[in-house]
Amino acid sequence: MNNSEDWSHIFTPLSLEQPLPELPLARLRFDLQTAKRAEENLIKSANETSSTRYLLVDNDHIAVPQHSALKAQLSHELIRAIELPADYIHLLKEKVSHDILFLGNYEGITYCVLWIHDNSNIMVALHHRYDWITVDQFSSHATSLESGLAVVAVSLVQWHMHHRFCPACSTKTEMTAGGWEQYCPQCKTTHYPQIAPAIITAIIDRNDRLLLQHKVEWSDDPARISVCAGFVEAGESLEHAVRREAYEETGIHISSVKYQGSQPWPFPGSLMAAFIAHAQTTDIHVDQTEVEWAKWYTKDEFIADLSAEKIRLPSRASIAAAQISQWYGVPLQ
Ligand SMILES: [Zn+2]
Repeated sequence: MNNSEDWSHIFTPLSLEQPLPELPLARLRFDLQTAKRAEENLIKSANETSSTRYLLVDNDHIAVPQHSALKAQLSHELIRAIELPADYIHLLKEKVSHDILFLGNYEGITYCVLWIHDNSNIMVALHHRYDWITVDQFSSHATSLESGLAVVAVSLVQWHMHHRFCPACSTKTEMTAGGWEQYCPQCKTTHYPQIAPAIITAIIDRNDRLLLQHKVEWSDDPARISVCAGFVEAGESLEHAVRREAYEETGIHISSVKYQGSQPWPFPGSLMAAFIAHAQTTDIHVDQTEVEWAKWYTKDEFIADLSAEKIRLPSRASIAAAQISQWYGVPLQ
């Protein structure tokens, strides 16, 4: 293939030219107030301000009003996060093992996270009192403000859950900077949230067919499909990861690669970078270890299989869903 060949006449304008529309988890609208993290009494000051609001986070779930989870499944209805006032938190935090993390500020209101990390009766009661849903379920139905708050909240909690000890000397670290840093009291090292970059690629051939694939690990969900995705290896560029993953998983060689957008995926700590790529070859050879099958879909074949429930769209919050909808030309969810 000649690298200078102009492919633009054989792809739909939609597939080629547009970045992805707003992604559910990429809507951070509030002020992170990064300069405040150095303040010694940051959390104490937030706790003493009556207008401060607290989200409740447990692992990768946030608390929402009862029955919201069902609404999220059945409709596009907006759902809200539980935002507890400071007075309530004062009573609650005396009874449970917890941390408070600083999120930032929106229109004069400070937002924090109450992260309860025990299985006390209080936590059991909170689980009965509220619904708890994952942040990707929540973000598809939330306002931009609350989606952004929830994604940052879960990202920080996930980091602290998975990084409790200093990687240099194994000493237990201390949470500092309102939860945005960890400090090792032994070797005096400061650690920051770990973010693992990953790529996700809509691969299209010269006939505007989209390559969809089914992973081996989805054996209990045979209709589940997605596009090519994987983590960026050490020393690798994003573009190299796009080409490598496509070849490793499906044997497809890529020609051009174009960036489409990104969103955090805190399960835990990923940042997904989206690309659209044009296939240089079309013969599929799946690796059978990661990908069970892959297939080129025309739009007619796609909608026929989707209607027959032979395939199922990825999660509404995922980049894959946005890429598939964009390729098809209309929102599918
Ligand atoms: Zn250390």
